[in-house]
Amino acid sequence: MKLKDIGEFGFIDRIEPLCKVHSANIVRGIGDDCAVISVSPELNLLITTDLLVERVHFLLDWQGPDTLGAKALAVNLSDIAACGGTPKEAFVSIAVPDHLEINWLENFYKGMADLADKFKVSILGGDTTRSLTDLVINVAVTGLSRSGETLLRRSAQPRDVIAVTGSLGDSAAGLELLRNSLEVPETVATPLIKAHLSPSPHLLQGQMLAKSGACNAAIDISDGLSSDLNHICKQSGLGATIFEEKLPISKALRQLARRLSVDPIDWIINGGEDYVLLAAIKPDKYEELAQKALIEGYQLTEIGRFESTVGINLVRVSGEILPVMPSGWDHFRRKATSETI
Ligand SMILES: [Mg+2]
Repeated sequence: MKLKDIGEFGFIDRIEPLCKVHSANIVRGIGDDCAVISVSPELNLLITTDLLVERVHFLLDWQGPDTLGAKALAVNLSDIAACGGTPKEAFVSIAVPDHLEINWLENFYKGMADLADKFKVSILGGDTTRSLTDLVINVAVTGLSRSGETLLRRSAQPRDVIAVTGSLGDSAAGLELLRNSLEVPETVATPLIKAHLSPSPHLLQGQMLAKSGACNAAIDISDGLSSDLNHICKQSGLGATIFEEKLPISKALRQLARRLSVDPIDWIINGGEDYVLLAAIKPDKYEELAQKALIEGYQLTEIGRFESTVGINLVRVSGEILPVMPSGWDHFRRKATSETI
């Protein structure tokens, strides 16, 4: 048996029993967007880490070092956002192949440092080593959140509104455009490619959800709506119904789908790397929270409801009801090709 046979999440299920928790102040270990450690009665420390590997997650031909550096940090900040926290410190480790120039590496760090400055994150260290083949980047980020306001995946309730903080599918469509050089107007291609290469972490939205007292659970959409909604459902012991007509789709994605005569639903449901937040909101608090979000300049869109019956269903515009399988991004199970990306 190989990793590709059981996938990333099958692998995590196998190693989790080996990763024993030895201290009483661990609120959450493996299985959430961040590990959560209680450091005082009022405060939780959040820790997250992400690995980016050349030819698995990115190609150097597709983006400059500055946007790659920013993205390597952004995907970690997105996990802090999912817990409703404030990011504090970052540690950056890279394995560098011989062909990369110092100038490239400086620009990589400059892109990362610019994003770190924007959110007042201190980069405190890391490790640098040589790689024989590809560039490998690991970033770890710490954050803080108030004990009563830390958002986890496991506490969604039946009838909670499923809401997202941004449009879905843009990043996957952008990846498609990068993979295949299609003849598409710049006004359509640019925002989609930008969504893939330069995601913005929804930190302020996460903090708003956390402080509202209306949010029971949250996750960031990194693997894809189908997979990430499934994570919340599985951990909360629930199912969900989502409605196609409610899914927020950007103008650029609609235009691309029309030009290519394709149904964008696969990008929206399974695409991944949207880095928007998916939240479980108390049904009686949703309208008020959505209004507040609007006033503060954030998007909060209801896309469905959590249900007490296990399983996720998609109600299509046609009225057809389809079961949704968690088939978002899983590096090991995704069809093996030499270019995973
Ligand atoms: Mg996450």
